[in-house]
Amino acid sequence: MPATRDYYEILGVSRDASDKDIKSAFRRLARELHPDVNPDDPTAEERFKEVAEAYEVLSDAEQRARYDRFGHAGVHGAGGGAGAQGFGSFQDIFDAFFGGGDMFGGAGGPVAGDDVLVATGISFVESATGTEREVTVDRVEECATCDGSGAAPGSEVHTCGTCQGQGQVRQVVNTALGQMVRARACPACDGRGREISTPCGDCRGRGRVRARSQVPVKVPAGIATGQRIRLAGRGGAGDLGAPPGDLYVEVRVDPDDRFIRDGLDIIHGVDIPVTAAMTGTTISVPTIEGEQEVEIRAGIQPGAELRLKGKGFPVVHGREHGDQVVVVGVRVPRITSDEGREALRPLAEHLEEHGDDGDDEGFFGRLRHAFR
Ligand SMILES: [Zn+2]
Ligand SMILES: [Zn+2]
Repeated sequence: MPATRDYYEILGVSRDASDKDIKSAFRRLARELHPDVNPDDPTAEERFKEVAEAYEVLSDAEQRARYDRFGHAGVHGAGGGAGAQGFGSFQDIFDAFFGGGDMFGGAGGPVAGDDVLVATGISFVESATGTEREVTVDRVEECATCDGSGAAPGSEVHTCGTCQGQGQVRQVVNTALGQMVRARACPACDGRGREISTPCGDCRGRGRVRARSQVPVKVPAGIATGQRIRLAGRGGAGDLGAPPGDLYVEVRVDPDDRFIRDGLDIIHGVDIPVTAAMTGTTISVPTIEGEQEVEIRAGIQPGAELRLKGKGFPVVHGREHGDQVVVVGVRVPRITSDEGREALRPLAEHLEEHGDDGDDEGFFGRLRHAFR
C-alpha cells in the first residue's frame, strides 16, 4: 500500500535536500528500521517500506520532479509504479543492509589462488653478488592430467545448462521490500560455466591438485635478511577463470665471520702487528670478489678506516654501490722477558730522539675532533 505521508517528511529531509542528503538519510533509516533488526516491532516493517518507497521516488530526478509538482498523484499513476516495479537502485538497498560492497561479490564463484610464502638461506657473499636458488613449494597447481579442465581426458565438456555458461545464476529472494534478485555462483557447475560428464580421476573434477614443486628463483644482489622476493602468479593456482596467487620467497642471509653489513657498506676488521703499523706494509684482505691487496701506510693508528670504493653492497636492482671499510686494529705484543726488553731498547731510544713522526693525531686527537 503506497505511503500517504510526505516523502520528505518520511526521510526527515528538507524539500531542497541534495541527492547525497537523501541517500544518507535513507541509509540511516533503512539500517534503523530493517525488520531483521526489529523482529518485535510490528510497525518497523511498515515504516521500513515507507522509507524505501520515499527513497525510490526522491532518488530519481524525474520522479522527484513529478512528486514536487503533483504530490503522490504524480508518482502513483499508471506506469508510475513506485513499489510495484521493485527498485531501480538495488545496490543502495543492499549497501544499506550489508554495509556496502558489491551485491554480486562474495556469493561464491571462482576463487583466486592463495599466496604462498617460503624461505631460503643464502650466504653473505651471495647476498652481495646475487645468486639463484630452487625453492620447494607446496601449493595448489593445475592438474596435469586434465590441464586444469577437470574433465577426464577424451571426455566431453558441455556448456552448463543451468547458467548457460555464465557461471552465475540470479536468485529471487523474498525480503521485506518484496522480491529482490541476487546473483550467486551457479550451484550446478560451481561457477565454472561448464558441465563435465566424466570428471578427471586425478583431481576429482576440480582441475586443481596439491603438489610439491621446485621453483627456480633469482636472488638479486644487495638483498638483506627478511626481505621477500615476489614471484607474481607463481603461488597457488586459482579456480578456472580466477587468477593465481603470488609466491613470496623470504631470504635469510647466513652470517659471515669476516664481514658485517652496515647499510650498503661492508665492514671488515683486520689486525696488524705494531711493527707493521709503524713501518707500513701491504696486506691481503677478503672482499666479496675475493682477496685484495691493501697498502698500509707507515704510522697508521689503531681504528683507522680504509675505504675500498664500490666494494660494498649494490642497491637491489640499482646502480649505486656501497664501499668496503677495512678497520685496522693494531696488535701490541706483550713482552715480559728481559731479552725482549733489551731488544727493544735501541728502538725506544731511536723514537725518543726522532720523536713521533707519524702524521696521525692518535686516538685521543681524533676523539677531540669528533667532539669539537
Ligand atoms: Zn584433473
Ligand atoms: Zn552453471
